[in-house]
Amino acid sequence: MHHKVKGIVIKESPYGENGKLLTVLTELDGVLLVKAKGARSILASNLKSVQLFACSNMLLYQKNTSYTLVDAELIDDFYALRDNIDSFALASYCCEVAGSVAVRGADNSSNLQLLLNTLYAVSRGMISVKFAKAVFEFRLACILGFTPEISECAGCGSPLETKKAGFLDIEDGVMLCAACKESPEAAGRMIPVSPSVYDALRYISGAKSGRIFSFLIDENALDELAKLSEAYLHLRLDKKYKTLDFLKTII
Ligand SMILES: [Zn+2]
Repeated sequence: MHHKVKGIVIKESPYGENGKLLTVLTELDGVLLVKAKGARSILASNLKSVQLFACSNMLLYQKNTSYTLVDAELIDDFYALRDNIDSFALASYCCEVAGSVAVRGADNSSNLQLLLNTLYAVSRGMISVKFAKAVFEFRLACILGFTPEISECAGCGSPLETKKAGFLDIEDGVMLCAACKESPEAAGRMIPVSPSVYDALRYISGAKSGRIFSFLIDENALDELAKLSEAYLHLRLDKKYKTLDFLKTII
């Protein structure tokens, strides 16, 4: 049976004589393992599609739960990600995380779109690796259903939008004002949110997918956002990522 998918190669390993086993994050089928037989001597038209980070419309042959690549039409190979170790490490990390949260047989289009937008902006040199990582992580947490409630204090109900600041309880995904964060239950899991970071959180959670990187943030606020985004997402993933350890040795 033939099966058409749109997907990106998030991992590749050798397979057989001169083939590759591709781990493909798809739009609608979760993560699929796809055999590309003879990938190292495959037709030139398909060669770019069987590389790491390549996004393509693929025609697969499906037999039971096994998939073999028949043909591919390249959408973007994001080749420039290999130009430096920073962007390569960032792309590897985003691919590993996006693949780990994909649900088999379910619609992963928001997750895939976030990954593609991130790789596009980094490969074209439009944004820094640090900025890309922070925005990717926080937006992914929102896509997974963990958008925090930041408009008012979860303790006393006072509006936080006027001051645009408070403390994020990263475990419960709510904000508290300065007075309420002193409660003993909240101790140890509060991250201070400055006005710039508040604006960034609001923007990243609400922007259209193609516009998520279209905001400015200064270096100090980006440092705060980077810490917050990583902590907030990884508390919910509960898994170790080798690609994150590697990325952290670089940035
Ligand atoms: Zn309060």
